[in-house]
Amino acid sequence: MAMTRDSATRDLLNGLPEFEPGWVWLVGAGPGDPGLLTLHGVNALRQADAIVYDALVDQRILDHAPDTAELIYAGKRGGKPSPTQRSISLRLIELARAGKRVLRLKGGDPFVFGRGGEEALELTGAGIPFRVVPGVTAGIGGLAYAGIPATHRDTNSSVTFITGHSVTGEVPDNLNWNALATGAPVIVLYMAVKHMPRIAQRLIDGGRDPQDAVAFVSNAATEKMTVVECTLAEAGSVAASVEPPAVIAIGPVVKLRSALDWVGRMEGRVLDPNPFGQADRDVAS
Ligand code: SAH
Repeated sequence: MAMTRDSATRDLLNGLPEFEPGWVWLVGAGPGDPGLLTLHGVNALRQADAIVYDALVDQRILDHAPDTAELIYAGKRGGKPSPTQRSISLRLIELARAGKRVLRLKGGDPFVFGRGGEEALELTGAGIPFRVVPGVTAGIGGLAYAGIPATHRDTNSSVTFITGHSVTGEVPDNLNWNALATGAPVIVLYMAVKHMPRIAQRLIDGGRDPQDAVAFVSNAATEKMTVVECTLAEAGSVAASVEPPAVIAIGPVVKLRSALDWVGRMEGRVLDPNPFGQADRDVAS
């Protein structure tokens, strides 16, 4: 007999770990859509006593927290260096020492530009046991909601993730931008809307084609998702009208969106099965 969806979910959660008091679970909530939460994430939500969450965690996910759980906002505003990072870690330690089951819920993946590593280091230092639950990162899953694959066999055999903000809040200067300009076929930028004019210029100065395709994907995997496509030459000025949070994809995979925008298709967009044009298809076949 067919299982109901509910019993099937319970079945999947069976055998997942028990959240023990005094532990911290560092969990990635994904970029928005609650369906992108992992089963470990759901299992954590159901058992947590305290949930310390970031600005980028979708409200629809928090709605699933048990009524008994204490919700603690630890949001930081995009790009600014965070003076509160240490206090967040101290809070986690304090809650764990008080015997709580502490769920540290972060947008995307906790170890991708999420300071999860820093927090986990503090936990190790304090002797607090922890578990890490990876999540769907915005630079892969968010792009997928825009119909942009991070890699595609015909276009790129590598993908480069870059943060647009260093610890000081500036464009990272410990990167070899010239090498990236010509050596990174697809670049995915996080936290880069503000500095996009300078980043685009550095890439062009480094020899990247100003006609290279760029997509800004804002509020990916949420109901507010918007996608703007342009060229690298235009990207600096286009950025001014983009609402953060956004991931920015640079490279030929952006062209695939005209064929793979599955969200747009649900709203009536007609997809083009030949996104790279006739010439490419002739070569491929
Ligand atoms: N740990 C997160 C990244 C945190 S850094 C992850 O793995 O996704 C914050 C940056 O993530 C934002 O500036 C933006 O670039 C990106 N981001 C997070 N959620 C997003 C979303 N729903 N849509 C677009 N970008 C998002």
